[in-house]
Amino acid sequence: MKKIRNFVNGKYVEPEGEEKYDVFNPAEGSIIARVSEASKDEIDRAVDDAYDIQQKWSKVPIPERIKYLFKLENIMWEEIDELAKVTTIEHGKTLDESKGDIIRAIQNVESAAAATYHMMGENNRNIANGIDEELIRVPIGVFGIISPFNFPVMIPFWFIPYAIAMGNTVVVKPSEKTPMSMEKSMELIKKAGIPDGVVQLINGGGEAVNYMLENKKISGISFVGSTPVAKYVYEKGISNGKRVQAGASAKNFVLVMPDADLDANIGNMISSFYGNAGERCLAGSVLVTLPENHDKVLKKFEEHARKLKIGSGLNPETEMGPLIRKEHLERVKQYIDSGEKEGGNIILDGRKMGDKLPKDGFFLGPTIIDKASVDMKIVKEEIFGPVAAIVTAKDFNEAIEIINSSKYGNASTIYTKSGYFAREYTERVEAGNIGVNIGVAAPIAFYPFSGMKQSFFGDLHPQGSKDHIMFFSERKVIITKW
Ligand code: NAD
Repeated sequence: MKKIRNFVNGKYVEPEGEEKYDVFNPAEGSIIARVSEASKDEIDRAVDDAYDIQQKWSKVPIPERIKYLFKLENIMWEEIDELAKVTTIEHGKTLDESKGDIIRAIQNVESAAAATYHMMGENNRNIANGIDEELIRVPIGVFGIISPFNFPVMIPFWFIPYAIAMGNTVVVKPSEKTPMSMEKSMELIKKAGIPDGVVQLINGGGEAVNYMLENKKISGISFVGSTPVAKYVYEKGISNGKRVQAGASAKNFVLVMPDADLDANIGNMISSFYGNAGERCLAGSVLVTLPENHDKVLKKFEEHARKLKIGSGLNPETEMGPLIRKEHLERVKQYIDSGEKEGGNIILDGRKMGDKLPKDGFFLGPTIIDKASVDMKIVKEEIFGPVAAIVTAKDFNEAIEIINSSKYGNASTIYTKSGYFAREYTERVEAGNIGVNIGVAAPIAFYPFSGMKQSFFGDLHPQGSKDHIMFFSERKVIITKW
């Protein structure tokens, strides 16, 4: 059985810790690799080395550091097919979805190359007689990067290129469910000539995360995952004196106004709910309609959902792959059961699709539950699967109230032709990433990946933009009189 290796000081190394987690091919239901929980000692050694190497790396002139990113970008394009295959095998998403995951990672590498400009300082001459004042940005040290299973390449790359461009080093711990994509990515980091130890990879689960949180040489943590873990990592990280940014769970509402152009938008609406099998923190989860368009929207939505081709992500015809694990599949099915028990009307039942669902693997078909309401579990909680709950609001104002009743605030979308409603929506909806006629409101790499309420802990968000300049650098102010 393949053992997932760590990557330390430029070399793949066999793990020393206890072998603990299975990696599955979720399209076949078979175990394809095993992950060990990194020991405290393994983590401390990787961090110690990253710490020493950072002292040298931070002195490499920034234009030189950026050149490695240009090389990495080219190598990622060259290897995209190979890497996408690895992601599809361990995650289940379609090859196109895996490529999308990697392309957004590449865009972050490109965007981090702007660090040469972003690291520029500021100054004022003569703030008092003969006194000048200057602000400079300096790197900080070692950052820990902890990622979830659902975007195994993109999410670590929300952080790696910015952190290293600014002169820091990183220790990455991917999800134990999808560790192979990062294991493969280290090969590309090596090929790009990024000096040994600037990017370290260790593997494991919650225990490894705790060792990282306790390690005094890690100055900051970039985390993405579920809300309870994000909150824990945030609280423990800051109480241990680290800076922390922590992306968390989501429950995304999609409002379709009666004037929306359904024909033009149905494709991106369906992809919002069922793309990545609903395992996307930007996935649509609750479809909000008004009484006057409910029947029309439901009819169109159902017609398209029924046509989705389900199967292995390696098959180019497939439009929706499996869920990540059997336990998760069962959990999503329980949500459907609960929706039914609480009075929802099942229009399309992903549990009962006969031959349309492959027998092996963790497959669930697209599901639609109508007549849902805000007090039902399927509207309140994150499901993270291909399930659309439909809620009908009496008017636009009630729709906003319903959306804002959620404890989460990751993303939300309105479909409309009205500038008035679109503007009101963007002003009043409590969500960090908002789409207007865009089903998956994913910010491009040079914008922050936002998130509000229980969907984000911290102040400075992932991806490019000024947030990351602040997160991965410290400011010094120098006051001079000659
Ligand atoms: P998860 O919280 O189970 O795991 C995330 C990371 O935390 C993994 O690396 C895991 O090893 C580690 N971890 C798990 N349990 C831990 C514990 N008890 N203590 C310390 N560390 C622990 O999340 P997941 O299931 O891998 O990912 C899905 C979740 O991530 C969903 O809730 C989704 O909404 C969220 N997500 C959020 C964003 C965002 O930007 N807001 C993006 C993608 C995914």
